[in-house]
Amino acid sequence: MSGIAKLARGVYTVRMIDALLERFLRYAQVETQSNEAFATCPSTPGQMNLQRMLQAELETMGAADVRLTPHGYVLANLPATSKKAKLPAVAFLAHVDTAPDFSGAGVKPVVHRHYDGKPIRFPDNPKLVLDPARHPELARAKGMDIVTASGTTLLGADDKAGVAIVMTLAEHLIRHPEIMHGPVKICFTPDEEIGRGVDKLDLDELGANVAYTLDGQAPGEICWETFSADAAWVTIHGVSTHPGEAKSQRMVNALHLAAKLLAALPREHCAPETTQAGEGFIHPVHIEGGVDKTTIKLILRDFELPGLAEKRAILKGLCRGLQASEPTAKIACKISKQYRNMAYWLREDMRPVELAREAIQATGLKPADHRARGGTDGSRLTERGLPTPDIFCGGQNAHGPLEWVAAQYMEQAVRVCVQLAEIWEQKGRGYQGYRPKGVRK
Ligand SMILES: [Zn+2]
Repeated sequence: MSGIAKLARGVYTVRMIDALLERFLRYAQVETQSNEAFATCPSTPGQMNLQRMLQAELETMGAADVRLTPHGYVLANLPATSKKAKLPAVAFLAHVDTAPDFSGAGVKPVVHRHYDGKPIRFPDNPKLVLDPARHPELARAKGMDIVTASGTTLLGADDKAGVAIVMTLAEHLIRHPEIMHGPVKICFTPDEEIGRGVDKLDLDELGANVAYTLDGQAPGEICWETFSADAAWVTIHGVSTHPGEAKSQRMVNALHLAAKLLAALPREHCAPETTQAGEGFIHPVHIEGGVDKTTIKLILRDFELPGLAEKRAILKGLCRGLQASEPTAKIACKISKQYRNMAYWLREDMRPVELAREAIQATGLKPADHRARGGTDGSRLTERGLPTPDIFCGGQNAHGPLEWVAAQYMEQAVRVCVQLAEIWEQKGRGYQGYRPKGVRK
């Protein structure tokens, strides 16, 4: 590379980081927490506010077919710059909502330019410390431009870092028509954090053959294996009587039965607190009720379907045992499917994963497979026929006040996406993936 080219590239990199940071800070300040209690899509109006901003921004930068659907999805199209026939359309997705687990109202992002590697303190909560000694990923980000929240909210890098990355990718491709790519689709989704992120996404309208979510963590990571997941509701009907007459009238206290069930759950190798890596678990997440009726919600997780079936059998067995011990009570156990390990479908054709690894490598990073002990929007998209691995965004400590992201990692993610668009143009001809019906490219 000549000296001038090097300089020009350097200048450009600085500008890309600035654009990324400016976008990220702006998006982070919009309150977009999703809420399971509301059945609408999106579940909360704040998400629509951000989506309208994104829609306007895409229109201004010159993206094609920009639209905000009635269910709160922003879609756009970047037409192919390559003249090759039969190039697959590649979609890049990110979600606009933040997790309900921790406050996302009034986020005040703090930028730590050229982070000095010391423990980070928070202006709105002096007791809180983000210590690189306890968070080795932070120690590795010394010298970078770090963003944190101010101490009382989450930051929302999950997944506004992804939104800023996808938006900067779109801008970069539009400004550089000399970059050869096939059709690129842009999509911003609502309600990922409450598991409804792709419920109302019309895959034919999206028009992609293959997709990537930008919702991962450490630089270089690609996730193409997720948990398989079920949810269970155990309802215990007891017999309520006046406690003074409970013995003669035979009270059956649903609360005691619920406690028995919880105590009987296998904890040793089957709880989130005692498992890691490829192990699954049974996890009670909510309990409510009284003497008369108590309901317990649980989630069941395992990478493999036989493991998940085993967990269903354990829970059902415990419920049957409890019922037998107290015939007057009525115990019901309802289990429903949530999502499945995307690897079941990706293994049939690993090209989306292999090309992503190649793109990561091409930007100078080491590709690393990450098995997600959770799900992504891609889990359900892949099951629906659109292969969708997940790519890193550079954020850490999501869903809490210690969340942070490095601008330089976000920039690496943009570079990976640009590479991906180019690599699909070079090697993707004839790839099928999802076959959208009646969509122009
Ligand atoms: Zn996320």
